[in-house]
Amino acid sequence: MADPQTEAPRKATMKIQEVRTIVTCPGRNFVLLKIITDEGVYGVGDGTLNGRELAVAKALEEHIAPLLIGRDPDQIEDTWQYLFRGTYWRGGPVLNSALAAVDLALWDIKGKRAGMPLYSLLGGKTRNGAVCYTHAHGESFEEVTDRAREFIDRGFKVVRCQSAIPGIANTYGTGKASGPHGESLPLVETWEPTPYLKTVPRLFEHLRNELGDEVELFHDVHERLTPIQAAQLAKALEPHRLIFLEDPLRPEHKESFRVIRQHSTTPIGMGELFTNKWECLPLITEQLIDYIRCDLAHIGGITEAKKIATVAECYHVQTAWHGPPDIAPITHAANVHLDLAIPNFGVQEWIEHPPEVAEVIPGGPTFEDGYLTVSDAPGLGCDINEDAAKKYPYQRGYLPTTRRADGAVHDW
Ligand SMILES: [Mg+2]
Repeated sequence: MADPQTEAPRKATMKIQEVRTIVTCPGRNFVLLKIITDEGVYGVGDGTLNGRELAVAKALEEHIAPLLIGRDPDQIEDTWQYLFRGTYWRGGPVLNSALAAVDLALWDIKGKRAGMPLYSLLGGKTRNGAVCYTHAHGESFEEVTDRAREFIDRGFKVVRCQSAIPGIANTYGTGKASGPHGESLPLVETWEPTPYLKTVPRLFEHLRNELGDEVELFHDVHERLTPIQAAQLAKALEPHRLIFLEDPLRPEHKESFRVIRQHSTTPIGMGELFTNKWECLPLITEQLIDYIRCDLAHIGGITEAKKIATVAECYHVQTAWHGPPDIAPITHAANVHLDLAIPNFGVQEWIEHPPEVAEVIPGGPTFEDGYLTVSDAPGLGCDINEDAAKKYPYQRGYLPTTRRADGAVHDW
């Protein structure tokens, strides 16, 4: 433990000697962290926050790294509490992404010292693989169906489906707006609830007719509806048996989820914009959701996620950790280690990165017949190739923004 007067390390057997932040863009930006100990063992972490990457990198370099030098890397919980509660101005996506990078790297070091993969340290495997989903999108129902069929043929048991909405330019999740880089300013998407609420149930009726009843299907609302609109959609989707409806409401007002529950039995998943366990609590303890889907890279890492998973287990809520392309394979690996160890794992989001990403960050999860696995290498099983990272310098990029047809700002 640290000296209570000075925070100087006391009798540490191993010390953190260097904290290196690596920002790289092998197709998209990643904020990576390497924590190096005085015994040469190092751990790797990921604190990527899409569209605000350098805010996290600066927080790590200027404010957090100096606090870590000389500390015992084995004291993960104490370091987590020190960085979260010891700073007074705590939390939020920037600081908790930085905290996640540190947390993942420390768990990686612990695994390497123990000679055990992370899932072993978390209690050992409760399953052989983590069933995962990916994202089928298209301009028409037929295009979405064809893409979903391709994924099913590759072995996917669960597919998320998004289609363009007639009369709306650049609908979320349909591919057109998916490239945040190369734009000097954010791309603007349009959003109108009425055509959206009419189109989505028809899309799933079409998908069920074409794909049958065996595959698990679902849809991401991306936090855009009002409570009663979300209730209408959840009710209309009931006959099409979604595994869950993703992120129907904005994250701020948790009580709004009661409105959806009062009207529908469509399961609900929520949480990618949450940054800590307290935000999850009312949804879990009131059983207003069925899947908690926080992002390990934005909630402070494995230490916070395992606590959320344990609380969720008590209330029959399963996990569906956020797994988009804008977090590094290091976080994807952390997701799967946790998925393999916890009893209440539900489903894992996963999107294949392009080969350049694996060149910079080797060792991410492996997909086979619908399931993700990780290697038995000690720790997270990932690495950072710093020479390869240098070939792909940071490029400023923004996520799109959304406006209503009358020009007013709406949630993206
Ligand atoms: Mg989502």
